[in-house]
Amino acid sequence: MAKIVLELDAPDPAVEAAVEALVQDELRKRLKGRIQTMICQQHARTPTVTVRGRVGSRFDYHVTGCCHDFVRRVKCRLEE
Ligand SMILES: [Zn+2]
Repeated sequence: MAKIVLELDAPDPAVEAAVEALVQDELRKRLKGRIQTMICQQHARTPTVTVRGRVGSRFDYHVTGCCHDFVRRVKCRLEE
């Protein structure tokens, strides 16, 4: 199963917790829907996607995985 990590930047920890609770379900569902079935055909590994963002602006997706090819495929899928 693909792993989704959220790193949200908020003004203070209380706000961050509240915002994270709000967005994480939605974001996780959306991302997992796209990549949960993705598995590297060479290494049989799943990707990790780290979402970094500031509240109220765009999120950045950072994908890590077992090899360059697979990471590239996951990124393509996320950007569709
Ligand atoms: Zn691989």
